[in-house]
Amino acid sequence: AALYQIEAWGAPYFSVNSDGDIAVRPHGTATLPHQEIDLMKVVKKASASTTAGGLGLRLPLLVRLPDVLKHRLESLHGAFDSAIQSNGYLAHYQGVYPVKCNQDRYVVEDIVEFGTPFHYGLEAGSKAELLLAMTCLTRGSPDAFLICNGYKDEEYIALALIARSMDLNTVIVLEQEEELDTVVEISRRLGVRPVVGLRAKLRTKHSGHFGSTSGEKGKFGLTTMEILSVARKLRRLEMLDCLQLLHFHIGSQIPSTSLLADGVGEAAQIYCELARLGAEMRVIDIGGGLGIDYDGSRSGDSDMSVSYDLEEYACAVVRAVMLACDRKNVRHPIICSESGRALVSHHSVVIFEAVSSSAIGAGTLPFAGADVSFLAEELSDGARADYSNLIAAAFRGDYKSCAVYADQLKRTSVEHFKDGIVGLEQLAALDVLSDIIAKALGEADPVKTYHVNLSIFTSIPDFWGIGQVFPIVPIHHLDQRPGVKGILSDLTCDSDGKVNQFIGGQSTLPLHELSGGGGGYYLGMFLGGAYQEALGGLHNLFGGPSVVRVSQSDGPHCFAVMLAVPGSSCADVLRAMQHEPDVMFEALKHRAAECGVEGGDAIMRVLHSMPYLICGDGGGVVAGDATSSDSDGC
Ligand code: PLP
Repeated sequence: AALYQIEAWGAPYFSVNSDGDIAVRPHGTATLPHQEIDLMKVVKKASASTTAGGLGLRLPLLVRLPDVLKHRLESLHGAFDSAIQSNGYLAHYQGVYPVKCNQDRYVVEDIVEFGTPFHYGLEAGSKAELLLAMTCLTRGSPDAFLICNGYKDEEYIALALIARSMDLNTVIVLEQEEELDTVVEISRRLGVRPVVGLRAKLRTKHSGHFGSTSGEKGKFGLTTMEILSVARKLRRLEMLDCLQLLHFHIGSQIPSTSLLADGVGEAAQIYCELARLGAEMRVIDIGGGLGIDYDGSRSGDSDMSVSYDLEEYACAVVRAVMLACDRKNVRHPIICSESGRALVSHHSVVIFEAVSSSAIGAGTLPFAGADVSFLAEELSDGARADYSNLIAAAFRGDYKSCAVYADQLKRTSVEHFKDGIVGLEQLAALDVLSDIIAKALGEADPVKTYHVNLSIFTSIPDFWGIGQVFPIVPIHHLDQRPGVKGILSDLTCDSDGKVNQFIGGQSTLPLHELSGGGGGYYLGMFLGGAYQEALGGLHNLFGGPSVVRVSQSDGPHCFAVMLAVPGSSCADVLRAMQHEPDVMFEALKHRAAECGVEGGDAIMRVLHSMPYLICGDGGGVVAGDATSSDSDGC
């Protein structure tokens, strides 16, 4: 466990149990062993065939843990509650979840349900997000905020106003000055008095990757001039009472509480000024930015780490708002945050399988030990000289010269291959020879490539796109010391489809030797519950993973699978790109018949299988509506 820093990034949810497997403590506390969920048992349950009592799902598998989500929400709320109490702050905290972080129906519904006692709300950034947020909030607390951010056209604004007239506590946050005219016009037309917020473009700048849109030249929000102009316009229209909220967002993964306090302090001043100008200010919305310590270092010196915990974050916010308001004698506002990453990152784990590995090494190569002396006759004069020098140096024990001659020999041979002088067999034998020499000299790269049943582009898009590193760990054998340094290569045919950066700045991951021909070795990607699912693409037409929703259950079973959904089939992903699987099937079946081939069944099977490499017999998919509820976990 120490090798993978599990305690540092995983506490209090992930640890290693006495079987050497990753165990989930869904409620965050040190629970009794029978209350821990063993991820290997979840994998076995999910992947065993239905006839063997499993769910017949194929990997990769996304395990959703709603209990973790509940615990994160309660912890965030608890952190603000204690900061408010200990500082004598005179208003409450009432957060919203920005659905863009993970729009999965069950994630959003869970957050609304778990957040109802705290009046937790939702934030939307587009019309589709607004529709789903409205629907989910009809079952939430009537006081919960529905914050409407993002670019807004007339339809978006009309929908937000309809939400308000449906008694959803909707706030339209102006990101651009021009949006005000549309809000005023449509609210008059619909006869709905809007509640308006302003997104301020702060001067405080967050220097990390996620802060590139902050600062005076940032992409979003209103400048000081524009804020003044909106306030004046609202006063002229006798609508200044509609302005009730000030919002800012200086970027995700704010690294330190000092930067946070700087930003919140600046926003709180603007808030107080708006109150002075006559707006009926009630809420300060501090946006997202509450970060995750992906590498567990608590250093806060890169996008991988933040130097604070929930309590320190909440305390810094409360104090900064209080300081500004007390100085200006302004009533303390409700503090709203739009924390997404911090709320959902821990709640899911992507589990995938290493199906094979490859490495350069004498013991593993087909040509190893081959007699390469025949090369001498077939080489050109120059290459033959290199070869003779190499052999002579080897006999002398002059390893340094060996390496030089081996290198020269390889280069000359490649040129000769391109000129058609050397054949494929000779070239391969030369490669082997130089690898054997390099290995003997201790220069061979001992790193093994593990081929994993996954698409990086679908399941870890931020690694490919912005170099975001997530903890990746084998979910079993953690009671055995791993003997291999590995990198991961996915199944897409794209050179970017690999993971060769790991937490702690490591370029390899300690892995266990694969037994047999590979397969049966499972790894988990942790802390990826935010953004990855929504950003994941269909590169190479690899669809999303199978999904199980797993809750802790008491009694003889430690977990219950509340929902099981097979991953996308080839037909699903083809449909997403406007192909028509039924038409394709008919055309291919027809062609097969013309050629006298019995291909129909095989084509149909592939169309309905997942576009991943399947190892062994994963069994059938779950029938009916592809959902399942099963409490026979252990
Ligand atoms: N609010 C707004 C306006 C955002 O743009 C974002 C994401 O960048 C968030 C909230 C969520 O941020 P985080 O995931 O850092 O909590």
